Amino acid sequence: MGDAEAFTREFLPLYVRVPAAGPGMCTICRTGPADPPQETCAGCRRAARGGHASTGHVVPISLTARDTQLYDVLVRERDPSGAGGRRDRAAFLAATVARFLRAHIPCLEDRAGGPFTVVATIPDTRAERPIEAFDLMQRVVGKVGALVPRYRPLLLEPVARAAFRVRGRVDDARVLLVDDLFGSGARVHGAASALYGSGAAAVVALVIARFVDLADAHGARIWREAHDRPFRFDRCCLCDPGD
Ligand SMILES: [Zn+2]
Ligand SMILES: [Zn+2]
Repeated sequence: MGDAEAFTREFLPLYVRVPAAGPGMCTICRTGPADPPQETCAGCRRAARGGHASTGHVVPISLTARDTQLYDVLVRERDPSGAGGRRDRAAFLAATVARFLRAHIPCLEDRAGGPFTVVATIPDTRAERPIEAFDLMQRVVGKVGALVPRYRPLLLEPVARAAFRVRGRVDDARVLLVDDLFGSGARVHGAASALYGSGAAAVVALVIARFVDLADAHGARIWREAHDRPFRFDRCCLCDPGD
């Protein structure tokens, strides 16, 4: 990735700040409503109920909601348009990940308990296309120089709504799991659970965007709170150098 900073500059209005975790906020996905006395949201609890460890940490780069340009890029597969015109969506997503990682790899590694030894993506189970040739996140990670040497195509598509499967073992690995959109969390938690089942020591999920449902009162509150301060690449939901 040449100059992620220059690439993402004209797209800054597309990103929405992810607030730091606080009271009433799920400690895993950092956006879901946590009902006391539990500290996690219903979605993350449901994912953990399968008996497997779900990922303990989901770090979104941005929030997104329906009818926003970032949502169109991620869900409707549209190329983003900035001041310089239309840009390729995989290149845009790669620049987003590269620029975020440059500032926050220590934040993510801190949660993993050390440097990542493996980078993985989740096969796209939502598209009816041959996976290997077109898988978006595999292409995105392939454009991020910092991730390429540790990338392994580990996760296999679930067959007939079963669980994700892992190719081989990942004993004692610290895995950075990269995905595009965190909605219900089922994909990320399912993939993390499969990785733990194959021996991973830690799985931290980096997602480009966390979907927020504005029709829901909790979602609308987070969205408002997020807009109290501008999005900046030098802060994440784990660290905040202030304004
Ligand atoms: Zn949650
Ligand atoms: Zn950070």
